[in-house]
Amino acid sequence: MSIEQKIESLRKELTEHNYKYYVLDQPSISDYEFDMKLKELQQLEAQHPEFYDPASPTIRVGGMVTKNFETVVHEHRMYSLDNSYSKEDLEDWEKRIQRILGDAEVEFTCELKYDGASISLTYEDGKLVRAVTRGDGFQGDDVTTNIKTIRSVPLQLKGDYPPKFDIRGEIILTLEGFAKMNHERIEAGEDPYMNPRNTASGSLKLQDSALVAQRPLECLLYSIAGSNLGISSQFEILEKARSWGFKVPTVAKLCKSTAEVMQFVEHWDTNRHHLPYETDGVVVKVNSIQQQEELGYTAKSPRWAMAYKFQAEQASTVLNEITYQVGRTGAITPVANLQPVLLAGTTVKRASLHNADQIAKLDVREGDTVFVEKGGEIIPKIIAVDFTKRPANSKPTEYITHCPECATELIRKEGEAQHFCPNDTGCPTQITGRIQHFISRKAMDIEGMGSETVELLFKQGLIANYADLYTLTKEQVVPLERMADKSAENLVNGVAASKSIPFERVLFALGIRYVGETVAKKLAKAYKNIDALMAASQEELVAVDEIGERIAESVVNFFSEPTNLEIIDRLKSYGLQFSLSEEQLENQTDKLKGQIFVVSGVFETVSRDELKKLIEDNGGKVASSISSKTSFVVAGDNMGPSKRTKAESLGVPIISEQEFLQKLQA
Ligand code: AMP
Ligand code: ZN
Repeated sequence: MSIEQKIESLRKELTEHNYKYYVLDQPSISDYEFDMKLKELQQLEAQHPEFYDPASPTIRVGGMVTKNFETVVHEHRMYSLDNSYSKEDLEDWEKRIQRILGDAEVEFTCELKYDGASISLTYEDGKLVRAVTRGDGFQGDDVTTNIKTIRSVPLQLKGDYPPKFDIRGEIILTLEGFAKMNHERIEAGEDPYMNPRNTASGSLKLQDSALVAQRPLECLLYSIAGSNLGISSQFEILEKARSWGFKVPTVAKLCKSTAEVMQFVEHWDTNRHHLPYETDGVVVKVNSIQQQEELGYTAKSPRWAMAYKFQAEQASTVLNEITYQVGRTGAITPVANLQPVLLAGTTVKRASLHNADQIAKLDVREGDTVFVEKGGEIIPKIIAVDFTKRPANSKPTEYITHCPECATELIRKEGEAQHFCPNDTGCPTQITGRIQHFISRKAMDIEGMGSETVELLFKQGLIANYADLYTLTKEQVVPLERMADKSAENLVNGVAASKSIPFERVLFALGIRYVGETVAKKLAKAYKNIDALMAASQEELVAVDEIGERIAESVVNFFSEPTNLEIIDRLKSYGLQFSLSEEQLENQTDKLKGQIFVVSGVFETVSRDELKKLIEDNGGKVASSISSKTSFVVAGDNMGPSKRTKAESLGVPIISEQEFLQKLQA
């Protein structure tokens, strides 16, 4: 046997043992034998670097260091899931689905919801080429080097896998692995980690992959994205992925009805504590991929999937003090500062109290013993007071009347739950909050600058609003605390680079109340430049699709403030983008204005998403179900029969892909 053959055969053998041990949980040789073979391979590879292979099992040991994790845009967006908490929620969801799918039969795949860090793995020709964290769903961090150390992630696939696809899963720590890690930490005199989920997710961002390799991480897979995969159901995805060598838990079940789904939920609600890993619920997915495509997505999540969350854990503790936070819009949020308490694996010190009404409703007071619960939110909430433990000298909570930051008297508008500090130009927290929003990732995304830098610059009197950022010089910034020559330069460069951020994001960055990302996009598209938008009256704004009274009023108010106008003038003079780019304008028309489309089936020349974008870019609207308001149904192959019947009965014209594209040519 040649050296090359020897290396190849060891790699094959070790890969197979890895698979048996970490994916199947059925090792066939001892750890000692495995280690010996691995050592032998390591030595041979070291002596013969010409046979290097990025898929060699020796990669698992790690050792590569990543200084900066590169940002990668997901080819297929990573969505969140909608949550439900009861049988009724689930039945409502089923009704919504049936409304869209007509009376077609729907089956569901139930899986456990693994509680870890989501990951997207890209495979090309059977080899793992990239692993990216979920990030904000649109883009994440490239953590390939670290992921390659996880033994249950195949570096080379088996069987008849597609040439290119993304597979999604969750990186988790088993409870046993987590306990072992903590045991070792305590032995070494270090603080134990708080919970498996945060530890798993923190592991992905360690710079030294050798440290990642030492952690007993696992990767459980649950979905595939790609084109022409030749797969027709979610259940098949799970089976196929398993056959290619991925670790896919076998608890998944195909259910014919929501009643069966509920049985699955109830079973795992009681039995979850026997699982080797943590789960916080069940994910229910419409099984047929064709039906999934019919159902599509909302802005955040697929309509064809639903997370059923198990009851959150509760804890009781003492509320020490109620404090008040001031947001960038001046909104006041009361916060409960608690006696630290362990809840679902994390220590909780603070909880949100939302507003004055909530405090009154709960009759919650300082010194009370309260019940806290952790739902999906980051900050837990108080659900009730334990009145039996109320101290004798307890006094009702008096909501503050003046701003804790600037002492201005608070106001509360008719019909609004929140109190506001009206001093928007003088309240320091509002000023820094607005600048912090302006520089944030989804807005101007100014690199080299964080929230603390903003506070520092403000305190030093270097900036009083976001326009001032553009006049900062390196010389002004260098003397600041914790600033070095290089970081000052990065900051100034980052500010300059933001001048090319597109109009809709600049509009979002301005921080107009109620103008979030989506609304900013809508307004940018409708008015094309800031001058047109500033000239718009409240009535005109309301006429824009999906812009309501509340938003319209807020926009008009913003542009009637002389200080805002002055700031915008300055930003214009610095060269920020205040109109859509040529390219954006070219691809947009009003040809479909006022028309509502429903898209159904599979298309030849464009994908379903491209088709929807074409409709929106040309002024049309996409709806998910057919009603009397629908102007046209664009039908591709395999249009659902129930949709056809519904369109026909309502007299809605059904047009083909070609006919649709001709409309745009006209
Ligand atoms: P959330 O972050 O609460 O919106 O839940 C969505 C996340 O659940 C996804 O990003 C996945 O990382 C995670 N997840 C865990 N298990 C599953 C599963 N079986 N199917 C789909 N998503 C899952
Ligand atoms: Zn104030």
